[in-house]
This record gives sequence, structure tokens and C-alpha cells, in this order.
Amino acid sequence: MQTFSLPTSPAALAGAGWTDISPYYEELATAPLSRENVEEWLKSWSQLEEILDEAGTLAMIDYTGDTANAEKEKAHLRFSMEIFPQAHEQGVRLSKRLIELGYSRPGLETTVERFRTDAEIFREENVPLFSELEELSAQYQKIVGGLTVQWEGETKTIPQLQPYLKERDRQVRERAWRLGNEAYLAHRDELAALFDRMFAARTKVASNAGFPNYQEYAFKSKHRFDYTPADCARFHEAVERTVVPAVERQLEYRRERLGLDRVRPWDLGVELERVESLRPFEDVATFVDRAKSIFRRVDPKLGEEFALMATEGLLDLESRQGKAPGGYCTKLSFRGKPFIFMNAVGVADDVNTLVHEAGHSFHDFAAHEQPLIWQRSPGHEAAELASMSMELLASPYLQKPDGYYSEGEARSAQIEHLEDILFSLPHIASVDAFQSWIYTSGEGHDAAARDRAWLEVRSRFERGIDWSGLEQERVARWYRQLHIFEYPFYYIEYGIAQMGALQVWRHSLADQAEAVRQYRAALALGGTQGLPEIYRTAGARLVFDAETMGELVALVENRLSELRAAS
Ligand SMILES: [Zn+2]
Repeated sequence: MQTFSLPTSPAALAGAGWTDISPYYEELATAPLSRENVEEWLKSWSQLEEILDEAGTLAMIDYTGDTANAEKEKAHLRFSMEIFPQAHEQGVRLSKRLIELGYSRPGLETTVERFRTDAEIFREENVPLFSELEELSAQYQKIVGGLTVQWEGETKTIPQLQPYLKERDRQVRERAWRLGNEAYLAHRDELAALFDRMFAARTKVASNAGFPNYQEYAFKSKHRFDYTPADCARFHEAVERTVVPAVERQLEYRRERLGLDRVRPWDLGVELERVESLRPFEDVATFVDRAKSIFRRVDPKLGEEFALMATEGLLDLESRQGKAPGGYCTKLSFRGKPFIFMNAVGVADDVNTLVHEAGHSFHDFAAHEQPLIWQRSPGHEAAELASMSMELLASPYLQKPDGYYSEGEARSAQIEHLEDILFSLPHIASVDAFQSWIYTSGEGHDAAARDRAWLEVRSRFERGIDWSGLEQERVARWYRQLHIFEYPFYYIEYGIAQMGALQVWRHSLADQAEAVRQYRAALALGGTQGLPEIYRTAGARLVFDAETMGELVALVENRLSELRAAS
């Protein structure tokens, strides 16, 4: 039996450059390949990818935990800028060998289908266009990241205005809301010109690859084998028919509670259920300990896995000077363990973030049982099913003694979560319908037409809020949506996954143990099955129709009424 050379461990590649790594790929690319040795070849290639992926991930974790360290930054950039793009190219080269061999078997079909699709749409002349798009994305980040406003004599970033949007004093939140939007509007022309260039580059990418528009290209490149743009249009209609009226009812409740004559856009951030913000924990040790109990209550095995992450140093949760902002869950592909990074400061959002990311980490644990690296990663639709379902499955245990909250606090946290679910869906539909318009209407190149189309989309999905006199501010919203600029068409996944998560939750209300068992079985499939089968295993299905969506929306609304009645 022929064996292939491999690096010994991720640590062995910590200081490597591309020249150290390319010989491994070269060997896999040039060695004789036949049906006799293809499994051995796949195993070696997969191991190489695991080791390399983990080496790069460790460099990224190191850097995001200590962004001021120039050495760590250099190592991270070496992987992200030098090594990974070339490794990716070599990966495409190797995948073509597999396709040419015509080899597949049970468990490998989805991998082969993804390889074949990537090869089909690959065009050499698109490579510089992707680099250009990367650069344009960096420009967007730069413009948006640099936005500041003057607030009571202090310079603040847009995210720093967030707390003022929750203010009970209406004038304060209106001022904060207007300032945030004005900052974007001041750069509207610049952002629109940037988008013009993105639109042109994407349209060219699609036509180079033989597609009539970028939407069709995007569906292929995102491996959306199980649903179409027409399904997404049905999803939009279903949201319009079922969610939009439910949100209007929630807004009416809000109007009454706040004693307003009409709800204006700056009235949406105020918490209705309490005056004081929740303080779920004082220190990270408590944060982690309670989380262990919560996940143990959801399922003993999941509780064990989370506890293992704590013991093995796979949680970096507290906010520190020098840490990158935000939160993520990533995986160490070689060790087969996930890693969670976040910036906890002791607020309710920290709990939400940890529970969400833990859902991703349980997915990583379960999917690692699949032998090959490509068999472990499903698309975002399945990944977010894992995390969004966990938010709902964990919600009954957020209360003491397992969790963080008193009974009343837990209730208000759950109310907010369910409200967020309802409010997010019309936004998801807006962002998706708008992008569909951009890339298929023939007018997407026209900046003024884009703004008009956004207003139309918004008036369809966003009702019950008085926007009179605020047309420009309303337009500003799409310029704030980074996905439209940086990750086109990546958004409907959240809607699809939320529908799946609500079904898992509905099941858990009737039979918690069985719902969790099915949830775990779905996670263990990794990427070896198509979406319908993954969802079916989780006890759910892909929802694009108004009837099922309507049932799930009614479930959420009923639960909201119950919770409010108990307050
Ligand atoms: Zn997520």
C-alpha cells in the first residue's frame, strides 16, 4: 500500500510558509491515483487539510486574542493571505482528480457534488475579480468602521450608540437613532459608488461562468442544491402574509405599553419588560459554571462536551484589552474540538451569544465523527439550525438554580428572544428580496433605482412603524447591512434555519428528550446528507410555505401571550 507524506502535527506547521507546505500537495497531485488507492489518498489529503486548517485556526485564535502583538498578526496574515489561498487552489486541483476518476460511494456523494459544482463554475479569469471584490469589501469595512458621531462632547462609534437606543427617555433615543443614520447618509454617495463596482464585478463573474445573472451563480457557488430563487420568493410571501401581521400586533402592544400615539423607528429598542438591564453574572467563572449546568439539563452528553471545552482551555470568553471585537465558534479540525471566542462583560447578550456559539460547538463535536474533513461541514442552513435550535432548547434552563436568572428575569429574557425571532424575519425577507431585485431586475447598476427598490421592499415587509419624514433614514438601512456588500445572498439561511429551529422547539415542548435526540442525530450527519435529510433527521423540514410558517408564528405569539400574562 502506498503512503503519502504528511506534516506530523499542526504545531509542526506553526512557522511554516507556503514552500514548506506545497510539496505535500504536489505529492498528492502527482502520485498515481486509482480505485485501489483512492481511499488511502483521500484519507491522507483529508489529514493534510485538517493539520493545515488547525495550524491556521490556532494562528487566528492567537491573533484575535491579542491583536496588539505584531508577531501574532504576522503569523495570522501568513496563513490567511499567503498559505490558505494557495492551499485552496491546490485543493481544487486535487478535487478534479477525484472527479476525473469518477469515484464516489455512500457518504461521499455530497462531497463529490460540491467538488463537481466548484469545478464547473471555476473560471481562471474570475480569480482577479475575486481579489478585486476582496479589496472592495475591505474598503467598505474601512468606511463603515471609521464612522463616528459626536455625542455630548465625546466622539463615539456607531456601535457605542447602542445603549442610548434603549433609553427610556424618548428624546435621547431619537437623537442617537438620527445621529447613527446621519453618519451613514454622509457617506451615501461613496458607498453607492463602491457598490456600483461590486455589482459590476459580480455581474462579470457570473457571465464569465456562463450564468445569466449573479443570483443564479450565487446559488450554485453556495451549493444551494435543495432550494431555488423561486422558493425564496415563496418564503418572502409567507413572511409577508404570516409574520408581518404578527409583528404589527407586537408593535401595537409596544405602542400601548410605552403610551405612544404611534411607534417611530427609534421606539424599537426600549425593553418593555423591565427598567433595569439584566446582569446575569459577575465573573467569567460563574458564567461558565452556570452554562455547564444549563447544557447538562438540555442533555448530559452536551453538558459533558461543554465541560470538556472549559477544562481544555477551549473557551476564551471575557472581554480584555487587545481582544478583537465580537464572538465566534471555530474548530480545531485535527484535534476534533471546537473553540469559542467572545467578549463577555456580564450582560444578557453574552448569555445569548454563548448559547448560540455552543450550539455550533456541539455540531463540531458531533460531526467530527465523520472520517473525512469534507464530510463534516454542512452549509449555513444546517449550521445555524444547530445554533438557533440550541437557543430555544436551552431557554427553559436559564433560570436559577441551573442558570443565571430569577423566574421573572428568565421570563423577560425569553420574551425578548421570541420577539427578536419575529422581528428578524421581515428583515431577512427584505435583505433577500432586495438582493434578488438588484441582480435580476436589470436596474441594479443604478444607485437611485436601488434606493427606490429598497423603499418598496421595506414598505412591503416593514409595517406598523411610522416612517413619515424619514425616507432618507429608511434608505440608509441597507447601506448598514454588511452582507449586501460583503457576502451577497448570505442571509436567507438565517430565515430557513429559524423555521427549522422553531420546529425543533415545538417538538421539545411535547417531548424534550426525543427532540434533543433527533437534534443530535442531525448534527452527527455533518455534511454527508442534503439539507432535506438533515432537517428531517432533526424532526423538521425546510419551510417556504405560508401555512407552516403561520403555524410556527402562532406558536411564538401564543407563547409570548402566556409569558406576558404570567408577568
Ligand atoms: Zn451562528
